Amino acid sequence: MAAITPFNRTLDFRYGEVATISPLVRRIIARNPSPFTFHGTGTYIVGHGEVAVIDPGPAIEAHVAAIRTALANETVTHILVTHTHRDHSPAAVLLHEATGAPTYGFGPHGSGRPDSGAEVEEGGDYSFQPHVQVRTGNTIEGRDWTFEAVHTPGHTSNHICYALSNEKALFCGDHVMGWSTTVVSPPDGDMRAYFESLRTCLARADTKDSVYYPTHGAPVDAPRPLVAALLAHRVEREIEIAACLRDRITTIPAMVSRIYASVPAVLHPAAARTVLSHLIHMVATGRAACDGPPRETSSFRLP
Ligand SMILES: [Zn+2]
Repeated sequence: MAAITPFNRTLDFRYGEVATISPLVRRIIARNPSPFTFHGTGTYIVGHGEVAVIDPGPAIEAHVAAIRTALANETVTHILVTHTHRDHSPAAVLLHEATGAPTYGFGPHGSGRPDSGAEVEEGGDYSFQPHVQVRTGNTIEGRDWTFEAVHTPGHTSNHICYALSNEKALFCGDHVMGWSTTVVSPPDGDMRAYFESLRTCLARADTKDSVYYPTHGAPVDAPRPLVAALLAHRVEREIEIAACLRDRITTIPAMVSRIYASVPAVLHPAAARTVLSHLIHMVATGRAACDGPPRETSSFRLP
């Protein structure tokens, strides 16, 4: 039985239209709906007159045109990228070419990993290279706003959140989503790092961040209970996987069939990546075993 996670699947919006979210924050949603992106990528605009754009989104011309139309009488001074998935970063280059504004991010895809992401993985934007590399604690300042960067590896190794101190708001990318759990897919996704990054967010919740703006879905007005529930959900998944091992369910497809029985089959391949991610974490911490490095085709057992 999965933990009850307080997800919100309502979202009032129109593609390409600018919505005012708070005094400093506006949002435009790209038309790239999918089981992983919900209605699509939410691109945020922060400030007035001289603005930052966060996660310009996929390389969809109409979306870039909508951002440029919305900002026709303003200047883009900063382009911030939370991570290098193809629904987040490709339009950063297009927006940079159109505005000249520099791009900010942790680094290229895989740059948060010890091996720097040599393996090719589906969904990664390998072309993005930020002009300015950002680390935890760095501040990024504009005319009427200041961001503090918070590195949150897990969903990807280069995932970074941006905290808007003026409004105690955290632009949390795909690290925490209000409508669904996030995919943690190896090799770039890392469950141990994801657990740690959730704890990083929990430690900041309320005192530093009182609202979350995820890239997909509605703002999260009460981040602490959501992050706590996401942590509990991941702990519970590992308990379910351990139960599979006790019942001699040894392969990832068989575990997915049992644990994700109520989830549409179209999501099972992503679920398999997440289960692998949990098993890598469990093998590394002595709670599961297999022959050789853990893979999707491995046979797992209790140690
Ligand atoms: Zn992503």
